[in-house]
Amino acid sequence: KPGSAAVRAAKVEVTPKGTPAVEVVDLHKSFGQLEVLKGVNLTAYPGQVVSMIGSSGSGKSTMLRCINLLEQPNSGRVVIDGELVRMKPHAKGGTTAADPRQIEHIRARVGMVFQNFNLWPHMTVLENIIEAPIHVLKEARADAVEHAHALLKKVGLSEKHAHYPGQLSGGQQQRAAIARTLAMRPKVMLFDEPTSALDPELVGEVLRVIRQLAEEGNTMILVTHEMQFAREVSHKVLFLHQGRVEEEGTPADLFGQPKSERLRQFLARTF
Ligand code: ADP
Ligand code: MG
Repeated sequence: KPGSAAVRAAKVEVTPKGTPAVEVVDLHKSFGQLEVLKGVNLTAYPGQVVSMIGSSGSGKSTMLRCINLLEQPNSGRVVIDGELVRMKPHAKGGTTAADPRQIEHIRARVGMVFQNFNLWPHMTVLENIIEAPIHVLKEARADAVEHAHALLKKVGLSEKHAHYPGQLSGGQQQRAAIARTLAMRPKVMLFDEPTSALDPELVGEVLRVIRQLAEEGNTMILVTHEMQFAREVSHKVLFLHQGRVEEEGTPADLFGQPKSERLRQFLARTF
């Protein structure tokens, strides 16, 4: 397949250099008594695709949600493009981000694509895409519209700009959601099982878009159950087990020569 060959070629070129787009150090997160993340580290350099795999409940979504500050870690460091997220101790234990304006600033640069698309149902596809650029980035409407049309073309939805999400297939909705995320020109894109809610015949069209974004050098952190896809597009893969990174390495290492018994069992179950 020409697509995967291009990705492999691109993968060789991306070396860890410069300021990491995302750096997570010793992250701990509990919900009440339940400790969900037990000291997780993750670094994504510009242009890298870092995938997280692991069983349901291992903490993958919580990790992504801590990176874009939808959740507050109890301790540890989150650094986005060199900017440390300032935390302060919370009265009930744990931390809160110290500065709501910093949260806003960081969320604007960390794009998230969810399993269930999360488009605004009362807005057309175009309106969904231009909303945040106009209101958060203060882009002129005409510029936002022009950018939106370019992004719709990229994800293959030019014809659907005036449709409402309910009039689209799941695959089309997810591609629109990806366009909406791209409209913010994020430093890093987080994908939380972007194809898990799709009928099998619609998975490919979404993976093709994500693959193209990888080839173009976008920095991405990807949670997925599509193991073959993760193997092809990732520069680095983390296997999470019960809130810890059990194993980490290149796709060739993790999928080809898994070291831990837990990872071997997980791969045997999923492939
Ligand atoms: P994964 O994405 O790997 O399936 P999650 O990060 O969603 O795992 O969840 C990890 C654990 O944290 C699970 O046991 C889940 O039930 C729990 N959890 C996640 N979010 C919350 C929450 N808001 N409140 C309480 N428990 C939560
Ligand atoms: Mg999850």
